[in-house]
Amino acid sequence: VSRISIAARLRRWRFLQTFRGRLAALYVSLETGVMLLAAILLYFALDRAITHQLDEDLLARGSHFAAELGRMPQSHWQRECTEFATHFLGAVRVVDLQRHKICSQGWQLVDLGRLNLERLISEAVRSEEPRFASTHSLLSRHNARLAAIPIVSDRGVIATLVLARPTTDVAAVLRLIYLLGGALVLFSMALTAAAGYALAKRALAPLDEVRRTAEAVAAGDLARRLRMKGEDREIRDTVRVLNRMFDDLEAMFRAQKRFTADASHELRLPLTVLKGEIELALRRPRSPQEYRRTLQDLLQVIERIERTVDDLLTLARADAHQLEFAQEAVDFTLLLQEVAQEMLPAFARKHQELRMQIEDGLFVLGDERALMRVVRNLLHNAHKHTPEGGQVLLGAGKKGDEIELVVADSGPGIPEDALLRIFDRFYRVDDARTSPGAGLGLAICRQIVEAHGGRIWAENRPEGGAKFVVVLPASQEAPPEEAAFKS
Ligand code: ADP
Repeated sequence: VSRISIAARLRRWRFLQTFRGRLAALYVSLETGVMLLAAILLYFALDRAITHQLDEDLLARGSHFAAELGRMPQSHWQRECTEFATHFLGAVRVVDLQRHKICSQGWQLVDLGRLNLERLISEAVRSEEPRFASTHSLLSRHNARLAAIPIVSDRGVIATLVLARPTTDVAAVLRLIYLLGGALVLFSMALTAAAGYALAKRALAPLDEVRRTAEAVAAGDLARRLRMKGEDREIRDTVRVLNRMFDDLEAMFRAQKRFTADASHELRLPLTVLKGEIELALRRPRSPQEYRRTLQDLLQVIERIERTVDDLLTLARADAHQLEFAQEAVDFTLLLQEVAQEMLPAFARKHQELRMQIEDGLFVLGDERALMRVVRNLLHNAHKHTPEGGQVLLGAGKKGDEIELVVADSGPGIPEDALLRIFDRFYRVDDARTSPGAGLGLAICRQIVEAHGGRIWAENRPEGGAKFVVVLPASQEAPPEEAAFKS
């Protein structure tokens, strides 16, 4: 089974799909690893200590007895051996060099398992030193610790004494220790898992609240906010950022709604006019001249719709950050002169004077068409609101590293409380009957000016009339020669 398929199988457990589940699992596996290592070390240390103790014991009893046997004739061994066995808690055996059993007592209780007793005896004889071994029969409880002690006379090694001490009692103690230890480990593992789970759950609780709030906002409850306080700074910061985002979302959503409502209203009006005029024209047959006049009127209404739709599109693009402005050097002086030139006939028709005070060599970095639109809008408004025979001033000059553009007129001016609001979308001082605009022109102007890093505002002149000021960052860079001849 590859690692990937194990991981995949594990992931299918729902419990491991949660962060808290994984954290708990991680804690438990870490602890299991540590405990396992500790258990293995403890096992070997205990085993060594106990075995050492057993060997000392066996040696103390055995070496004394072996020395005794070495000193007496072999004929007495049988008796001595039986005698010894009555005091010894285990099995006793004496074998001579030909491996004949001279005496053997209590071996029915010992399970030698895979232990090679023959080899143990040979080693003891060869080295003339006591040798030790353990039987490790897993199935039987009759394990024992064995000692093979050479019996030495003045002729050298003459036989071997083998003692076997059952380790059942030791095993019982070890089992108890492991049982207790195991229970302790299990308990502490359960505790760790529970603690890890609870800790992660507590740490993640704010996430639940965030999810619930986000779901509520997404479902339309725009006023819903995160309310948790949280002592932790990470959480407080996150809550603050998210709530600010929800504020922005709500504001954006409401603005969008208002914008759509206003836009529909704005388009409905000219459409109603259009419909009315057409119905009126169709009521009875009319002369070609009459039809012509009606069509001319309709064309004007359609042009108005066209302008409004165009403005709406511009603003919608700006909202979606899709309004792209070129970044090129623009000869602002030339631009102002061009727009003024193009509007001169309109001014002349109303017998208005257009005075120009435009400094030479004004350059800005930006989008020529968009900037033209701003100037055209402002001049158009001034022209529209100034009575026949009035005056309009178009001034531009450098102030520090900025360019200041002023469009002032001798019209009625703007009510003080509307000075700021006229830059809002669809805001009009006078109602739609007296002003054919949709109230979008100045909103677009502000959008363009701000996109160029500038400012725009309106004032009333002391001598009467409105004054619009646009400030744009000046550029040192003149446009390349051929651009001047482009248009
Ligand atoms: P509109 O297309 O309706 O003119 P604008 O955004 O250009 O919309 O202007 C918003 C309002 O600001 C207008 O309804 C008008 O009342 C007022 N306004 C703009 N320019 C002038 C001005 N030069 N003098 C007086 N009022 C102005």
